[in-house]
Amino acid sequence: MKSCPRCTYPLEEITHKEVELDHCRRCGGTFLEPEGGSEVFGPFVDPAVWADSEIATDLGRWQLNCPTDGSALKVYRVEYGEDSVEVDLCPRCRGIWLDADEGVTLRDIVMDAGQDETTGLSVKDVRSGPVGYIFQLISQFPLEVWNPIHHRPRATIALIGVMVGVLMIQFAGGFGSFTDQFSLVPSQILSGRSLWTLLSSIFLHAGILHLVGNAYFLYVFGDNVEDYLGGRVYLALFFASGLAGGVLQVATQGDPQISIIGASGAVAGVMAAYLVIFPRVKIYQMFRIIRFRIRVAWFLLFWIGWNIVGAIIGGGDVAWMAHIGGFLGGALFAYQFRVRPLHRVLSGA
Ligand SMILES: [Zn+2]
Ligand SMILES: [Zn+2]
Repeated sequence: MKSCPRCTYPLEEITHKEVELDHCRRCGGTFLEPEGGSEVFGPFVDPAVWADSEIATDLGRWQLNCPTDGSALKVYRVEYGEDSVEVDLCPRCRGIWLDADEGVTLRDIVMDAGQDETTGLSVKDVRSGPVGYIFQLISQFPLEVWNPIHHRPRATIALIGVMVGVLMIQFAGGFGSFTDQFSLVPSQILSGRSLWTLLSSIFLHAGILHLVGNAYFLYVFGDNVEDYLGGRVYLALFFASGLAGGVLQVATQGDPQISIIGASGAVAGVMAAYLVIFPRVKIYQMFRIIRFRIRVAWFLLFWIGWNIVGAIIGGGDVAWMAHIGGFLGGALFAYQFRVRPLHRVLSGA
């Protein structure tokens, strides 16, 4: 029987997010194997990410013992700005001991510090240089400053693959009966017919540019959301958001004969989930020719505000209410899976 290095109470073996961890019911501390931290909180808590950076200091102290192999745990101070946390690492098994709220604090600190180039955390790549600037100048699309992922975003890639395949079939059919058959038409839904088009219409697009916009935003925001939620929950988020967007659009659209296609409601839900899970991450954003960094939270709140204005003024071929419905649906969904101290999640509080 392993005992808590902090308070000697017996540790309980718990499986959370398919990770086995040792948890203390009394003090709320948890011991995670090297891979476990990334699985539970995402890559920001992984010592391989922060231990050799400028925000981490080896305090040269050993105060607890590893519950797995008995080695003395090394104490590191991780700090950035006003925030600081002391974390215990096992030099033998590379496991990490996290006291009750430390996982969340550590994640916040590393996430904040990684947006600052001087900390040596974020990897300078093509995004921060002239190629990234030119790409943004032409596309006006946002780029993330730093948000590493731990897994290949297979579900995101598969979703984009299906969208590309479906668009090719639409092209081959001249955007005729195939497109019509799978499009969302409010009058049909309101009379209880073809309810499945609420989901099938997500995969249809009006042309290459329409698809490129949706696929780009899905990839930029979706890879991290998938990494954190896992593929299955992420797909549920995607479809639930698409459904929420479709339903709100159907319920509010002035002309019920106009058909609706595109993944933007589902993508809006993924963006909302990003806002819930990674609010401190920064992005590079263009204002005409000037590139600046802002917190993604400001970008996404501006984006949804712009959609609300669009919905009020109306006009364009944009399904504004589908974006708003998808965003609200995604935010509510992701809130259930928000980052919380492990002891609260495990005790169900
Ligand atoms: Zn304890
Ligand atoms: Zn160990």
